[in-house]
Amino acid sequence: MDSNGLSPYQVALQHRRRARDRRPLLRLPWKPVIHVVILAVGLTLALSTQIPASAFVSGQTYMIEPGDTLTRIAAATGISVPCLAAANNLSDPDVIRAGDVMNIPALSPSTQTYCVKRGDTLTSISAATAIPVDCLARLNDLANPDAIRAGQALLLAPPAYRVKPGDTLSSISRTAGIPAHVLADWNGLPDPDRLLAGQSLRLSGSPASGDPTGACNPITWIGSENYWDDRPYGGPIAIVLHTSAGSLGAIDHWFSNPQSQVSAHFAVGLDGRTHQYVDLADRAWGEGNIEPDNVWPGPEGMNPNHYSVSIETEDGGNPPPPVTEAQYQAAVRAGRLILREYPNIQYLVSHRAIAPHARANDPGPRWVATGRFEALAAALGLKPIP
Ligand SMILES: [Zn+2]
Repeated sequence: MDSNGLSPYQVALQHRRRARDRRPLLRLPWKPVIHVVILAVGLTLALSTQIPASAFVSGQTYMIEPGDTLTRIAAATGISVPCLAAANNLSDPDVIRAGDVMNIPALSPSTQTYCVKRGDTLTSISAATAIPVDCLARLNDLANPDAIRAGQALLLAPPAYRVKPGDTLSSISRTAGIPAHVLADWNGLPDPDRLLAGQSLRLSGSPASGDPTGACNPITWIGSENYWDDRPYGGPIAIVLHTSAGSLGAIDHWFSNPQSQVSAHFAVGLDGRTHQYVDLADRAWGEGNIEPDNVWPGPEGMNPNHYSVSIETEDGGNPPPPVTEAQYQAAVRAGRLILREYPNIQYLVSHRAIAPHARANDPGPRWVATGRFEALAAALGLKPIP
């Protein structure tokens, strides 16, 4: 707790209540997993700003005012109508009464929370989210994994704080109520005096330190402005794999810089951490232009970004270290998430296949010569185009 009596979660929640941070992992509100929580709050807030978000404290209660609707409360809290309805046993979400007190489910500052529905089990949620049961249990401090209840909000990723310009580790430490050296430790910061705006900091230690494979840290939303909205040419046909001679933090920095004009949907770290920059329903700027001699399976004369989902992989560079098991498994998990959304994807394509001259070593021997590329394609049931 800090001096304002706010927990690190609440502090982080205030900091992260931004439209970009609210973009969903997968934009498919009608599918079972996702009709949950995750709303583009910026959009909904733009439509209804009658209720200040500060009127709500997640995990607490709210007294309904005359004129309130569940849609407006959902917009103000960032918690979906179905989740609010489940949390309050509302059979008809259109009927709420002024003066009634509603439960506002606890909302994670991370972009990913899941609202438990009737009939859910931790096993079924695990199957739907690709997060192991024990990770879900640890992330949510569930002593008894069988005892989850409808309306409960489950964390799908450890809470994180996105660094703003002007932040220092000590200012974040004061706000979050977490000692600076602990933050540095949790985040493996080599130089705590050098924080990058846009960098994502963990505000939770156990999943990171107790989970070297990254299995408990499935996806952290970083965001990027470098993308095109929607997929007007239809769903993607390929997952394109890249390698990047830099740290995951450098990738975050590069992709979240509008000037770079570059992004990917995901990046996977050598330690298995997975960051997301672009919604799967949108087109990242990852594949650049098609070069002569390419073996890209998409339509000629069209930008390959229209037809792809891209995964960047951290390699630290010069000489690039081998793909770690944690990184490989994280790429498999990201691939499965992508295929759950777009089951018609047929190919795993290297960036080299699109740009054989400019990108001759992308993703390079660490993926291709080692057989990891072929293995990844086989694990995902895709045709490899290395
Ligand atoms: Zn590339």
